[in-house]
Amino acid sequence: MPYISLNPATRKTLKTYTSWDSNHLAEALEQAYNAQRNWARTTFAERVERMNCVAKLLHERISEYAALMAAEMGKPVREGHAEIKKCALVCDYYAVHAEHFMGAEVVQTGAGKSYVCYEPLGVVLGVMPWNFPFFQVMRFAAPALMAGNGCVLKHASSVPGCALALEQLFRDAEFPPHLFTTLMIEASDVADVIASHYIQAVTLTGSEPAGREVASHAGQHLKKCVMELGGSDAFVVLKDADLELAASFAVRSRFQNCGQSCIAAKRIIPVAEIADEFVALFIKKAAELKMGDPMDETTQIGPMARLDLREDLHQQVADSIAQGAQPVLGCEPVRGAGAFYPPSALDRVTAKTRAYHEELFGPVAAIIRARDEEEAIRIANDTRFGLGSSIWSRDLDRAEKIAGQIQAGSCFINGMVRSDPRLPFGGTKASGFGRELSYHGIREFVNIKTVWIG
Ligand code: NDP
Repeated sequence: MPYISLNPATRKTLKTYTSWDSNHLAEALEQAYNAQRNWARTTFAERVERMNCVAKLLHERISEYAALMAAEMGKPVREGHAEIKKCALVCDYYAVHAEHFMGAEVVQTGAGKSYVCYEPLGVVLGVMPWNFPFFQVMRFAAPALMAGNGCVLKHASSVPGCALALEQLFRDAEFPPHLFTTLMIEASDVADVIASHYIQAVTLTGSEPAGREVASHAGQHLKKCVMELGGSDAFVVLKDADLELAASFAVRSRFQNCGQSCIAAKRIIPVAEIADEFVALFIKKAAELKMGDPMDETTQIGPMARLDLREDLHQQVADSIAQGAQPVLGCEPVRGAGAFYPPSALDRVTAKTRAYHEELFGPVAAIIRARDEEEAIRIANDTRFGLGSSIWSRDLDRAEKIAGQIQAGSCFINGMVRSDPRLPFGGTKASGFGRELSYHGIREFVNIKTVWIG
């Protein structure tokens, strides 16, 4: 099966790539395995030098990579620049801290000496999505490589150009050949890769069905895995919130990357006392977003990444309206060749609608009005997902107490959910398990070894 790179703004084919046969795949896995065994013996100083080189190249190629993402998945170049800068930040972070995070820890046990040390696991398979085609990969690869692991990447089939550019990036930064390899394979080949004795672990960022399948293969072969899956983050607005600020961030959080972010504010939950005022502000600000050509520096909303994703999203919207939700902004696909969907909002979303229960992976906000604070907390938790959440209130003590009641991997107070290399990132419930970033992320794919000396 060929890989087809298609521009979602024009639906023109950009390039066609050939996918690998099983011999090619087997050879690549063996080469990655051999490269990792040598890499595990390198010093941190050597790894730091290579990682700094990746960061430098990312800065130099920022416009090239932003244009590539715009062409393959429709990300506006302005957001593409920010994504590449963030990739460089992750490289910098692990270049500075990896040695410390991987350092041995002495523990007093009554033995002559006892300590815990961290050793690389081997080659890690990353199954990655198209929505942040550079950052999602760098978030797994930078810590894995600094820990002494190797990486093989099965990227989303809609971004083969980005996948190959990433492999080239590591090659140009003079990482050993085959240590980072892009596998040009189908999703159906992933099971064989996990089964291979050359692979020791797998990390996936993507949908819940893909997560279930990949985690079950990892379980079958007893290989460590991390699952970073979907989310339907609550954005709770209490009566004493700064409504102007909250509405601005709600718009930013819901509509960045055309709404295709796992940690977007997908369920906006204002309490009754301020709901009318807040919703009016939110709609006004969302309506001002500029939709258009992702290559244009002023564009804020590009096309969705693929036409089928737009169709799925619109079906969720149409069903939710039929179930009683009120379309108060957008909610109709834009006519024309591109996969454009305008900034949209559904108000009065209730538990009877799809928009309440399902993740809306596109530019549509589900507004769920809560009677009071208590009901807002209940609604925030009334979801199968548990990735991020945010609470908006001027009473920080109260908001912090509420944060303790929210079932999610993160809770931001008066700020939008975002990833930061210094803080762990991941979810609970159907949003997956395991953590990326911070020292938690680098220690996911290591052998935590106890050494005890009598
Ligand atoms: P998928 O989860 O299908 O794709 C993500 C990655 O997983 C891709 O590399 C894909 O490969 C691979 N994959 C898919 N199915 C399997 C499988 N059975 N076994 C092994 N690998 C698999 O995402 P979609 O592109 O279909 O997006 C649909 C939904 O996924 C969205 O609506 C959203 O809910 C969720 N999503 C969440 C993301 C997040 O950041 N948490 C990111 C992207 C999507 P291939 O492309 O070849 O199918």
